Amino acid sequence: MSKFWSPLTASLVPYVPGEQPKDKTYIKLNTNENPYPPSPKAIEAIRNAAGADLRLYPDPTCDELIRKAAAYYGLRPEQVFAGNGSDEILAFAFAAFFDPANKVQFPDITYSFYKVYAKLYGLQAELIPLDERFRIPIDRFRGTGGVVIPNPNAPTAELVPLAQIRELLENNKEQAVIIDEAYIDFGGESAVPLISEYPNLLVVQTLSKSRSLAGLRVGFAFGSEELIDGLNRIKNSFNSYTLDRLALAGAVASFEDEAYFKETTAKVIATRERVSEQVAALGFKLTESKANFVFISHPSIAAERIFRELRGKGVLVRYFNQPRIDGYLRVSIGTDEEMDAFIRALREIVEA
Ligand SMILES: *Cc1c(COP(=O)(O)O)cnc(C)c1O
Repeated sequence: MSKFWSPLTASLVPYVPGEQPKDKTYIKLNTNENPYPPSPKAIEAIRNAAGADLRLYPDPTCDELIRKAAAYYGLRPEQVFAGNGSDEILAFAFAAFFDPANKVQFPDITYSFYKVYAKLYGLQAELIPLDERFRIPIDRFRGTGGVVIPNPNAPTAELVPLAQIRELLENNKEQAVIIDEAYIDFGGESAVPLISEYPNLLVVQTLSKSRSLAGLRVGFAFGSEELIDGLNRIKNSFNSYTLDRLALAGAVASFEDEAYFKETTAKVIATRERVSEQVAALGFKLTESKANFVFISHPSIAAERIFRELRGKGVLVRYFNQPRIDGYLRVSIGTDEEMDAFIRALREIVEA
């Protein structure tokens, strides 16, 4: 607390990102980063962009990147917004589409940034409890102040089938519905094709997970022209140059290497399936993951203890000290070697 803080600053409850430790080298399975490097074409494009042109501002409308992403998804450029990571886009979207007079609805167990944004903008939130198997009860989302759902959900990893997303949109035609598809490429079906039917649907995606570019900070939103206009109004009241020249170059090139994207995504999925079986064989229960992480719980050993002991063995995973999920660990899918080390460490803990 400081006397120089505004009342708003004093009231905030900021997001706490997963640890990025500097004390030693860990096997990092705690922030859902992709274990594989970005496409070599993206790295080369970033290198080529690191030149004298950096004295110039980047393109404030991100034209080339937006045309690229639009073509990739079969959309018009007017239906695409690019931002400095999808977190920034979500923050813009909360400001653009939600009204303090009505409650915005999101699941009780979900990406914790939603609560933070709601607080930042003075919005009321209605938290809809997941069912006992951690699935999102879609028919309970019928509010007046908008809806935000990650699909697959985080940290539970469960996917809502597209037919149910359609049901959600049918039930909520008068307010914005945001589907946060940070993990959709790991086995889900995107809601992007529905945006031509539902002018209130905003689909948010990121290059951070499936395209291995968390360090570059690039995300997208796809939606009707009126929603994209809304996002641009907020963005241009804030910062016209949210994507820098290196990010624009790397992101464009990333879309030009579909083969690499497909190959690395398939590897993550294959490793996830193998690890799921191994973890189950060690006595853990798991949710059904369609993401690049698994959500696991041991019937008799406390999650916090497993978290601490894994850390001691050089393996970092994510533990959430919050009701309903404090018996679980979220484990990002690493390379096969990293996951072998994780399974070895886990076996030692379970067998001790
Ligand atoms: C990782 C993640 C994001 C943030 O992605 P960035 O594009 O890196 O900001 C957004 N939503 C969910 C659910 C995530 O897990």
